[in-house]
Amino acid sequence: MKKVYLDNASTTAIRPEVIAEMTKVLADDYGNPSSSHSYGRSSRNLVELARKSVAKYINASAQEIIFTSCGTEANNIILQSSIRDLKIERIITSKIEHHAVLHTIQVLASQYPIQVDYVAVLPSGEIDMVHLTTLLSKPAKTLVSLMHINNEIGTILNIQRVATICKQYKALFHTDTVQSIGKVSIDLQEIPIDFLVASAHKFHGPKGIGFAYIRKGIILNALLYGGDQEKGLRAGTESIHNIVGMAKALSLSYLHLNHDKQHITHLKKYTQTQLELHFPGVIVNGGLETIYTILNVLLPLPSSKTSMILFHLDMKGIALSRGSACQSGSVKPSHVLSEILTEQAIKKPSLRISFSHYNTIQDIDYLIEALKTV
Ligand code: PLP
Repeated sequence: MKKVYLDNASTTAIRPEVIAEMTKVLADDYGNPSSSHSYGRSSRNLVELARKSVAKYINASAQEIIFTSCGTEANNIILQSSIRDLKIERIITSKIEHHAVLHTIQVLASQYPIQVDYVAVLPSGEIDMVHLTTLLSKPAKTLVSLMHINNEIGTILNIQRVATICKQYKALFHTDTVQSIGKVSIDLQEIPIDFLVASAHKFHGPKGIGFAYIRKGIILNALLYGGDQEKGLRAGTESIHNIVGMAKALSLSYLHLNHDKQHITHLKKYTQTQLELHFPGVIVNGGLETIYTILNVLLPLPSSKTSMILFHLDMKGIALSRGSACQSGSVKPSHVLSEILTEQAIKKPSLRISFSHYNTIQDIDYLIEALKTV
């Protein structure tokens, strides 16, 4: 049976060059980077070269990069430690953040005397900038946490604008860039972001590794207590093969960015055109300007088809999501779509089709044919 993978916002296939590099490290570089002998020094060298490489692609300095086990952990370190260590009084966030941010903030609000304000989300899925400014105009020591690219609908936040507004109101700015690092260029010398996070498995790297960027001068303390790894902020022996694999995947993503972006943009346009042709009335969730890797559509099919559509596609070897990864297969409506769709629309089948450079026009034709038989 043909297999088609269109769930790249959930996770991606590792590039063969990354596997080769990681395999070499697994076989040869098993020294503990904290050991002072030659095995340890050689591993330390790999970790620090990877840190420099990762930093270079976002125009940060190596000391601003903290390796973590994933994007969720990086978000947790930033949110939990900044509330505890920076005496934050208020968090401004939105209801369409990833659960790694949303749930963490909910728990923090039950543990600390902080106020949580949710900035309004427009029906297009964009953040209401006027409301953000209104919220910020009430004085309080504030952390703004807004994601760059929404993982379900692909809407793009103007991080340059938000960073500038935050600076104007002396608020700290954290942005979850898990869906944008490796797909969009980010220059941290141009944009005054205080914290951002990334996850290697979203840009064709390994699972189990990510990083947090913490702007120089901001001092946070650890969540995990133990050794001095990662400047004492993230104790635990470094996962050298994963760190090297992430750095390699990131460098390849940016090396091929223009070519891959062109290919994927073409695929996304083709998919939308085919859907409009064969499913008149299809609506794109998330407004006009969305990331080239994600297309979220509301299909003009009866609500009775909603619960079985993913199963039907899966039977034909096609993998995609309804909302975020954890929600595919669940009947619970997506918290993101619930914010932007009407009660009627949310009952109808929405699909998140998310692309990579490995996808082809034939994949899309196969998907359209399969959808016609739903
Ligand atoms: N943030 C966003 C926007 C995501 O899409 C994801 C993964 O789906 C995460 C955070 C969590 O990343 P990880 O799987 O590395 O913990």
